[in-house]
Amino acid sequence: MIAITCDKCRRRFTPTSEEIQVYLAESQDKKHAQVLCPHCGKANKVAAERLREAIRFAPPAPPVPPTPPAPASAPGDGSAA
Ligand SMILES: [Zn+2]
Repeated sequence: MIAITCDKCRRRFTPTSEEIQVYLAESQDKKHAQVLCPHCGKANKVAAERLREAIRFAPPAPPVPPTPPAPASAPGDGSAA
């Protein structure tokens, strides 16, 4: 997660990981990406490095829960006559 304060209207907003990836793609390896403020619609220059850090620490995929171990069944000793 990354909190950005808009240069124009001074309000804070948090772009999602998906949005950040789009901004990074649009920045095309420049030092800054243009992030649009949802409040006033103006573009804010944000360091691309900051955006990359933000999505690194907030991966889009949820963590996979560990699978519980299967109960061990005792071999043999099936049916006692
Ligand atoms: Zn704004």
